[in-house]
Amino acid sequence: ERDQVSSVVPKFVHGYGRVPASVPRRRLRIVVTGGAGFVGSHLVDKLIARGDDVIVIDNFFTGRKENVVHHFKNPRFELIRHDVVEPILLEVDQIYHLACPASPVHYKYNPIKTIKTNVMGTLNMLGLAKRIGARFLLTSTSEVYGDPLEHPQKETYWGNVNPIGVRSCYDEGKRTAETLAMDYHRGAGVEVRIARIFNTYGPRMCLDDGRVVSNFVAQAIRKQPLTVYGDGKQTRSFQYVSDLVDGLMALMEGEHVGPFNLGNPGEFTMLELAEVVKETIDPSATIEFKPNTADDPHKRKPDISRAKELLNWEPKISLRDGLPRMVSDFRNRILNEDEAKGF
Ligand code: NAD
Ligand code: UDP
Ligand code: UDP
Repeated sequence: ERDQVSSVVPKFVHGYGRVPASVPRRRLRIVVTGGAGFVGSHLVDKLIARGDDVIVIDNFFTGRKENVVHHFKNPRFELIRHDVVEPILLEVDQIYHLACPASPVHYKYNPIKTIKTNVMGTLNMLGLAKRIGARFLLTSTSEVYGDPLEHPQKETYWGNVNPIGVRSCYDEGKRTAETLAMDYHRGAGVEVRIARIFNTYGPRMCLDDGRVVSNFVAQAIRKQPLTVYGDGKQTRSFQYVSDLVDGLMALMEGEHVGPFNLGNPGEFTMLELAEVVKETIDPSATIEFKPNTADDPHKRKPDISRAKELLNWEPKISLRDGLPRMVSDFRNRILNEDEAKGF
């Protein structure tokens, strides 16, 4: 039983010879900021399953207790309601820093709060990492490439970002967070890891977060038209959440700082995505065109050669295989909402 393993594993045990290589490693204490959110809660599941102790820090802006409630009786799990904009004292081995609203609708809702979370929140978590000697992983974003002039995007591309636009609180915020991480790495010797995450989908996405996959899936289930913004020819590359979690853990455990693109290179126009959602949920669903939002990137697709080579990681689940895996979760939550409204 992993829980009983002592923190020091002796190389030799008297009378038994060499301890077999399969002896489990030391249990780690891990903080996941934003751990009650979509990606964070899936990461927590995997860390707990691996046998580690997990502390979630979340202010529940977009996260929900329901996402982690199945761990509440586990003594290896702890949930702290805390805003990362404020300092905090903890003793841990690793920090996965995810706290930040990710959907454009949520991060534009209070842009000043978003940039405070990205800058002050990341500063505090790096200060914590420095004080306790913890390894720190930043979840940055493909949005650091802005409306890219290079396609597909490699980590060496510096991006094409509007510094004063409505998305800047998020994309410039994440760019600053990357700068802070590198400065703490170079200046204070903090072991940092940087992931640039591309569009990710799966169970537990907020129903109302306005992202295209959650919108289309919820609309198809509710028998509403799928809302395609603009001409629908803009592209994105969609990654299933378990692939991302595997990539984040490989990055944290590996020896490379990054940044690493973590995404699925399969590229789809929004019209093609709508077709896949129709095939998966309701072939009779209709499409309704709506005006696009400002500064919307025209295309996005990761070059993942670096992660393949150095992390030995690549996504395994295609869009057609991944979409069906989120449908029952969405159906159940939509049903519960309808019941709560008395439908
Ligand atoms: P999410 O909104 O579901 O989760 C973010 C979590 O952070 C939520 O639980 C929220 O309550 C919490 N949070 C927000 N501000 C906070 C604060 N100030 N203090 C404490 N907690 C706070 O989003 P997600 O999709 O799970 O994204 C997780 C991370 O991955 C984010 O940093 C996001 O920028 C990054 N990312 C996600 C995607 C994607 O497609 N999902 C793409 C690129 C990057
Ligand atoms: N910090 C924190 N927890 C810690 C250590 C630091 O929240 O355990 C915060 C601290 O309050 C500061 C930030 O992290 O706002 C940066 O800390 P650092 O020590 O790097 O800088 P300084 O405090 O010297 O400005
Ligand atoms: N989009 C859409 N219909 C929707 C929501 C979004 O056509 O209901 C488009 C949006 O204009 C963008 C793409 O889908 O071009 C991806 O948007 P999302 O908000 O999911 O993520 P982004 O990659 O922009 O952060």
